[in-house]
Amino acid sequence: MGRHVLIIGGGASGMTAGIFAARAGVSVTVLEHKDRVGKKLLSTGNGRCNFTNRDQRPECYRSEQPDFPWRVIQNFSLEDTLEFFRGLGILPKERNGYFYPNSDQASSVLDALRFELERSGVRVESDCHAEEIHVEEIKASDNRVRKGHMSDGHAGEAAPGCRFLVKTDRGEFRGDALILAAGSKAAPATGSDGSGYELARSLGHHIITPLPALVQLRCEEKDYRQLGGIRTEGRVKLYMAGESPAEKSGAKRRAANWIFLAEDAGEIQLTDYGISGIPVFQVSRYASVALHNHRDVKAVLDFLPRMTEEETEEMLARRRKGCSGWTCEQFMTGLLNKKLGLCLLKRARIEPGAMTENVPEEKWMALLRQIKSFESRVVSANPFEQAQVCRGGVDTREVDPGTMESKKVPGLYFAGEILDVDGICGGYNLQWAWSSGAAAGRAAGSGR
Ligand SMILES: Cc1cc2nc3c(=O)[nH]c(=O)nc-3n(C[C@H](O)[C@H](O)[C@H](O)COP(=O)(O)OP(=O)(O)OC[C@H]3O[C@@H](n4cnc5c(N)ncnc54)[C@H](O)[C@@H]3O)c2cc1C
Repeated sequence: MGRHVLIIGGGASGMTAGIFAARAGVSVTVLEHKDRVGKKLLSTGNGRCNFTNRDQRPECYRSEQPDFPWRVIQNFSLEDTLEFFRGLGILPKERNGYFYPNSDQASSVLDALRFELERSGVRVESDCHAEEIHVEEIKASDNRVRKGHMSDGHAGEAAPGCRFLVKTDRGEFRGDALILAAGSKAAPATGSDGSGYELARSLGHHIITPLPALVQLRCEEKDYRQLGGIRTEGRVKLYMAGESPAEKSGAKRRAANWIFLAEDAGEIQLTDYGISGIPVFQVSRYASVALHNHRDVKAVLDFLPRMTEEETEEMLARRRKGCSGWTCEQFMTGLLNKKLGLCLLKRARIEPGAMTENVPEEKWMALLRQIKSFESRVVSANPFEQAQVCRGGVDTREVDPGTMESKKVPGLYFAGEILDVDGICGGYNLQWAWSSGAAAGRAAGSGR
């Protein structure tokens, strides 16, 4: 019998790993606990699947071991990805550097991967939940249990020479190599329920706490109840307090030493509980980590990000000159979204009905501050159900970036989001799935 590779998880990374392992000439079985593979792919890119991005830089990928993801991406780059998908029939369409299938249908990316799995003879076992992994020494004379859930004597049942035995709710599967591609905890309705972390942990791997990333942030201020539904151009800057709340008295809390975490600009969405939109998604993982470490977090929004503070001050002064006889509400009209404008006036303690010429200078300065530095206390990130990805996962210090093989269990490989790698929004998380899946599939298939 030839070499056999088992893959737990039929998502983007598991399917890619399956195709590359099969191309190395081995037989492959994918175990997927949903009724079909690739459910998450269908919801990517608002149903259009933003599958990679032209702008590839190390900073687009985050991990506790920051150089790890880039080493993997370089081995299966953007060009390799486009070539791989062209080979599967996907004509790429580029919009401002973001790549989609020309069909604009995420389902075509999934279909292309499924068809290739079929053509490669990869066996897909759906409705099949991997519960336990048993690892056996490869010794011709002595196939004994080595690691994982191993003290219960199941290894004796394994075929000679097999290294891995996976117990599922549909029976046992054996393989010479195992790729763990079970995803994270993000969007669990699509199948990634975090069970992969438990399987990795059972084999001695350390899991960096998974936290929601690419997710909305909930804020304390009541203002948001009136702001829900507004989309506006803006910049978000995120800060965390230098001291934990427990270390501070209530009075000192306001005077916290704020440490800058991250920033991004673009279309911000205000919701009735806080902030959303791509710029917020991009910085959200830093808020998740700081909140997890019991740090106060604040978001500072700039609603006129194309102007400096001085330019904004000059613009407001010019506007005031031309608006004599107008109310402050009229003054704000056409400058920003109406509801937002009213909220900013309220925060600056300016009556909307007051005549502009009667508003004292310090209130105009307060309005300037609200437009350029609208502060909110971030109380939480939305839960995993709303997150697109997770920060955290299998500690990459325990994985070889060339092959994705575990440094703890030879023959065990990892691919995709189960690892402590999260990309920014824009096709980077799928690029991570393709690159890590290809590397793990090739190495597991060739037995390197
Ligand atoms: C709404 C949404 C939109 C997104 N849009 C984009 C986008 O446009 N571009 C982009 O780059 N990224 C996007 N992402 C992120 C991207 O989809 C993921 O990073 C990527 O799909 C992860 O692939 P994966 O194979 O690691 O995990 P998954 O796709 O989650 O696959 C893991 C698979 O393992 C299965 N599984 C888990 N545990 C077990 C078990 N114990 N036994 C058997 N099977 C198991 C699951 O059912 C699942 O099918 C989006 C995510 C979401 C939620």
